[in-house]
Amino acid sequence: MADERLGAQPHRISCLLVGQYWVKPALIGIGYCLGYSALERVSSIHAWSALEFTLWNPTPALTVALVMLFGPAYVPLAFVAAVLAGYADGSAPGAGNALGSAAILAGGYGALGAVLRKTMRKGWWVAEPRMLVKLLLGAASGSFVVSSGLAALHTDYNGIVSVEFLGKVGILWLGSTTGIFVLLPVLLLLGISARRWLSELRESRVDLALFILGLIAAESIVFFVDFAHELHLFYLMFIPVIWLALRRGIFGSTLAVLLTEIGMVIAVQIRGYPTETFLDFQMLMLVLGATGLLMGGAVTAWNRAQQQIRQQQQEMDRAARVTAIGTMGSALAHEISQPLASISTYARACQLLLNESPSVSSRLPETLDKIVDESERAGTVLRNMREAIAESRGDREAIDLRTLLDRVVRLVRAEPMRSTVTVTVAAESLPPVFGNRVHLEQVFLNLIRNAIEATVQVKRGNNVKVTGNRNGDHVEVVIDDEGEGIDSQTAGRLFEPFVTTKSHGLGLGLAISRNLMELGGGNIVFRNLPGGGARFVVRVPLYEPEHDGK
Ligand code: ADP
Repeated sequence: MADERLGAQPHRISCLLVGQYWVKPALIGIGYCLGYSALERVSSIHAWSALEFTLWNPTPALTVALVMLFGPAYVPLAFVAAVLAGYADGSAPGAGNALGSAAILAGGYGALGAVLRKTMRKGWWVAEPRMLVKLLLGAASGSFVVSSGLAALHTDYNGIVSVEFLGKVGILWLGSTTGIFVLLPVLLLLGISARRWLSELRESRVDLALFILGLIAAESIVFFVDFAHELHLFYLMFIPVIWLALRRGIFGSTLAVLLTEIGMVIAVQIRGYPTETFLDFQMLMLVLGATGLLMGGAVTAWNRAQQQIRQQQQEMDRAARVTAIGTMGSALAHEISQPLASISTYARACQLLLNESPSVSSRLPETLDKIVDESERAGTVLRNMREAIAESRGDREAIDLRTLLDRVVRLVRAEPMRSTVTVTVAAESLPPVFGNRVHLEQVFLNLIRNAIEATVQVKRGNNVKVTGNRNGDHVEVVIDDEGEGIDSQTAGRLFEPFVTTKSHGLGLGLAISRNLMELGGGNIVFRNLPGGGARFVVRVPLYEPEHDGK
């Protein structure tokens, strides 16, 4: 909409673009510098004076987020911010060191941000736990490299890797990795869509309030009950984090981890723990952060998968209704055409009889003419309708049957009451077939559902087996079940519409399936298996290159 408005007033485009060109980077720059100095101030509360390093370090998260969201062009800004911060807090012992530290911090975390920006699409990690793991591992490794660089700059090198050096690397790594785990996901979520973040915040306010109560309770026990630390009751802090992650997915877990860290820093400050104890807590916080985030990621992925399955199911149901209406129309047209033809024949017979004795009534021949005309007109309408239905083959394309069968089985598994029957698919390396994706999905869905329903009826029945093989210019998919098989009475009319033995059945599934297969150049046959159960064989034509463009 905004584009349309701009398009209507071209002279304003340039003004706005010039404005945006300067305003956006300037706002980002100011926001970053203010955030950097604020975080630097907060984090230096617990500086380890002996090493001149702060023990928790949220600024790397800000730099990584800056580059991931807005690009590597902002790395120089990170350098300037780091130099200014180094001078402001007086932690840099000399100008050389201050510049060196700033270069390592900006260069290292800038490079990490650039790599993460390149390797994962914006927001990918939110939906893909695999990507979230990559993000966390990438952050931990990147911060290890930067920490080693900084520690080397601050250690007098005497030819061997000293314990002092390793200690510094460890402390720096712990501080910045925890900082990244705690802050980066929240910053990225905010950067991807602040509006969505705020609306999630509004939606989750009750859960968040309960979480904060739980967090206060857990932290009160961990930090203010005297024997708690000795008993290592820290794990109590996992409970509210995991609860919020389960309730609100990745959004909840990122906030939970951040709030837990903030609560912990406040508590440690109030208690005035020695720095070494803070280090212990920091290590536990790192584990809690990773656990909480991964759990949140898994919950979000699970919710998404469920939603996708529900959507697919709705799509299939809609498509099934459309084809059911088509098949019903076609069946009704077939049924009604016969009596119509008879009416027309009888009317003609009456006309002939009247010709022999025309004295009955003068209006009768005219009325009979009307009956003949009307029944012929109705017949034409029905014939046209059947032809139109028969022609609606839908778009056909090359299809990988294995993927399609897996998708159908996933849909069936998601349905309630299917858990007692196992559906296995053995259809490796099948050549592509040519057909309409929705039609094929519907056919297999019907057949597999029928097979499961038949198997459930029999106590010893547990398995439905789907196998696929190439046979000449077709692929044959075989669906075997462990039901009672098909009785001889039903067998003869199995593919006719409205034939069902189920109390709530419509008897349209097989009629529709055969129709769809025949429209696509395939077919369906069945037979009873010797050991009980039924076998349905679906033949689908192979895809040939000359099918392209058809
Ligand atoms: P519906 O499932 O609504 O009854 P269908 O056309 O799918 O309609 O099936 C028609 C009938 O065919 C079913 O009512 C059932 O009696 C029989 N049938 C279909 N598949 C099987 C099977 N795998 N085993 C035994 N009977 C089957």
